[in-house]
Amino acid sequence: MRAVVMDRIGGPLEVREVPDPAPAAGGVVVRVRATGLCRSDWHAWAGHDDIALPHVPGHELAGTVAAVGAGVTGWAEGDRVTVPFVEGCGRCEWCASGNAQVCPDQEQPGFTHWGSFAEYVALHAADTNLVAVPAAVPFDAAASLGCRFATAYRALTARARLAAGEWVTVVGAGGVGLSSVMIARALGARVIAVDRNPGALDAAKALGAEYVLVSGGFEGSGGCSGAAGGSGVPGRVHEITGGGSHVAVDAVGSEQTAADSILSLRRRGRHVQVGLLPPVDGHPRIPMARAIAWELDLLGSHGMAAADYPGMLALIESGDLRPADLIERVIGLDEAAALLPGFDQASPAGLTIIDPHRKE
Ligand SMILES: [Zn+2]
Ligand SMILES: [Zn+2]
Repeated sequence: MRAVVMDRIGGPLEVREVPDPAPAAGGVVVRVRATGLCRSDWHAWAGHDDIALPHVPGHELAGTVAAVGAGVTGWAEGDRVTVPFVEGCGRCEWCASGNAQVCPDQEQPGFTHWGSFAEYVALHAADTNLVAVPAAVPFDAAASLGCRFATAYRALTARARLAAGEWVTVVGAGGVGLSSVMIARALGARVIAVDRNPGALDAAKALGAEYVLVSGGFEGSGGCSGAAGGSGVPGRVHEITGGGSHVAVDAVGSEQTAADSILSLRRRGRHVQVGLLPPVDGHPRIPMARAIAWELDLLGSHGMAAADYPGMLALIESGDLRPADLIERVIGLDEAAALLPGFDQASPAGLTIIDPHRKE
């Protein structure tokens, strides 16, 4: 099969022929029909994850089952499927309780094993992790669900318990941020979107953000010293909402964006950290004095288990959520290999989806 191969950390990526994968016991091989290009892939490329070389990235995928391993009972060749980016082991107490997203023995395609920037991908514990994709949901829309869309959905529902009429500030209008805007609107919340890229904010507005704020950039100082009513993003949010938003999401993952999110909250507000904050420059500074004084909830969110997909899929089938609207462009493997190294600096106004079988 053809695959995007990474031979060294931070090096160029090459599209080349590699052996077809075979299904493990309990697993399947999926013919990849669509796979998303995500900032997490860039983190792996940059060496922020522990990966074995050579490596194939890619963790947001949808396709059809091409081969079934021994012991799989729920799936057959030809089934339309997607998976969460965290594949639970299917045997531990967390998987048994429907919380495979925190399984201690989890696998992640594109991180712990070869991923979906390829014509085929092997997946583990199929009966725990595979999700059936309804015929009405196209593959490119389904591919967005496994990481950013599902993560945004779970962050706002199961973690922040966002209610209709509440204000939510979404910091970062990339894939997970735009997903958050769409989902928050579908839940009846009022949305403020923040980004450094005016084009991304136009997309946020089109999805229903009531206010958009251009941030001065995601790098810089002062993250921990910004005050309510002062300058910058938190001050503007406090003005707009009359005291701060009820919920805020850092969909980027930097010291500055995490602080902007936390300091934008009203008293007793809930912050959800979705953007990854690997301690590559030391542990990030977080404004804990505000969290204590205002009794803020600081919540982590790590994807969403297959067990929680039916509620989200029902909203997609009914048209209340439209992940296909978030897709900016569809590219082939060669273009993906060229794009990935610069993806931390890219400011796409929507999701970039790869079709591994596309003729280039
Ligand atoms: Zn992702
Ligand atoms: Zn498990």
